[in-house]
Amino acid sequence: MKKGQGFKKIINSLRFQILVLVVVVGLLPTAVLFTLYNNLYVSQSVESDVSEIVPQGEVVISQIISSGYLNNTEQENINTLLQALGNTYGGRIMVVNSSLNIVKDTYKIDEGKTAISPEIIQVMNGKYAYFYDKSNSDLFVAVPIISTFSGEELVVGALIINKSMNYINTNLDYFFNVEIVFGLVWSVLVIIAGIYFSERVGRPFTKFSKSLKDIEDGISDSDIHVNNFSEMGALSEQMNSLLNRMKVVDESRQEFVSNVSHELKTPLTSMKVLADSLNSMEDVPNELYKEFMLDIGDEIDRETQIINDLLTLVKMDKGARESLNISSVNMNELIELIMKRLKPIAEKQNIELVFESFRPVVAEVDKVKMTLAITNLIENGIKYNKETGWVHVSINSDHQFCYIKVQDCGIGMPKESIEHIFERFYRVDKSHSREIGGTGLGLAITKSSIVMHRGDIKVHSVEGEGTTFDVRIPLNYIEEAE
Ligand code: ATP
Ligand code: MG
Repeated sequence: MKKGQGFKKIINSLRFQILVLVVVVGLLPTAVLFTLYNNLYVSQSVESDVSEIVPQGEVVISQIISSGYLNNTEQENINTLLQALGNTYGGRIMVVNSSLNIVKDTYKIDEGKTAISPEIIQVMNGKYAYFYDKSNSDLFVAVPIISTFSGEELVVGALIINKSMNYINTNLDYFFNVEIVFGLVWSVLVIIAGIYFSERVGRPFTKFSKSLKDIEDGISDSDIHVNNFSEMGALSEQMNSLLNRMKVVDESRQEFVSNVSHELKTPLTSMKVLADSLNSMEDVPNELYKEFMLDIGDEIDRETQIINDLLTLVKMDKGARESLNISSVNMNELIELIMKRLKPIAEKQNIELVFESFRPVVAEVDKVKMTLAITNLIENGIKYNKETGWVHVSINSDHQFCYIKVQDCGIGMPKESIEHIFERFYRVDKSHSREIGGTGLGLAITKSSIVMHRGDIKVHSVEGEGTTFDVRIPLNYIEEAE
């Protein structure tokens, strides 16, 4: 079983197939060429011999006619002539009369018999014919004996000259030997070329897979460089960018895990400190006790909030689209409700909340998830603002999309932070943000929610001047991605 598989593997390998291809392409034409050449040589030799034999035969035929040999074959001079002709060609000479009877055979084998063959029939029509018997290397040339009776030409018989063509075989044997030697040398060259090309094509693949294996085994961390062919170069590049992406994903996963542990630990540490200090004191005054307990309660709320946010995010990550609860929602009302809820926080910081509606918009969305997304945007606008600042929220639509804009005149953020703000736990200024409060999960949730609705979100911010978030959501929920 294993052996068979190994054999199949070799047969299916690119190297083997290229080797076979090169060998076939290299050897096949040579074999065909040799065969063609040999056949051409035989037919050329036969034709040249025939063109030599026919005039000789015609000379003899003129003697046969003038002597009336067909009626009397006992004429010594003609018989000698025929014998001499036979000797010249190393074969037999036969004379056939109009009834296809063999009246003369210099070998005396077939005399008196009837000669029937396609060539004889053709000759009786007045044209010479020939037949080459390859296995015995015998050439038979039949020349018509034409006599003229009162101005009319009549075929009265045929002269058949047989020539032994042994020289053709001798030459073919010689050619064969040359061809074998040449063929062997050529085969060796072709096989060497085949091995060279199959190696040339196969090596980059081996190198590529070895590089991948090294990366997988952790032996190497560098990029793959296999550029022997442009296709291979493109593949390497593609692979490298995939590997880099995997590295980034892995790093962000590690970072996420460490962030989560850190964020979850912080409230616990605070609670521990508060509890320890209460424990270490004797006779704790009632007010202080209450104050510490309130602080501990706050920390518990914070911990709960972080865990809830994380759970929301995880839920959104996992096959989230199926969990969307889509209904037609009046977006204007939704935003007004959110703003009403956030009003107390805004008022506490003297922030003015303004809502501007360009038209009533109804969109097919998941109300809860959309509320989460918009709430966080407006809440951020309030949180990262200045005393007596404002947050403007506007809604508009066209025939396809609903547009929501959340604009504030707050602290803004530096350019380099903008690309990170949708990452989990990312906060622009940790120390500043701590007193403001928050975990850095809000925008990650916002983005997930909007992406689930096949919408998108863009941010524009200038440090010290303010921030604008532009959200675009399709009015009609899109079931499947194209
Ligand atoms: P959470 O929303 O989870 O309570 P958070 O508000 O800090 O915490 P995000 O909403 O994800 O987290 O925002 C990430 C960071 O982006 C914020 O910490 C803040 O630094 C910055 N940011 C977000 N919105 C604004 C804004 N409107 N103006 C200035 N900075 C902002
Ligand atoms: Mg937030």
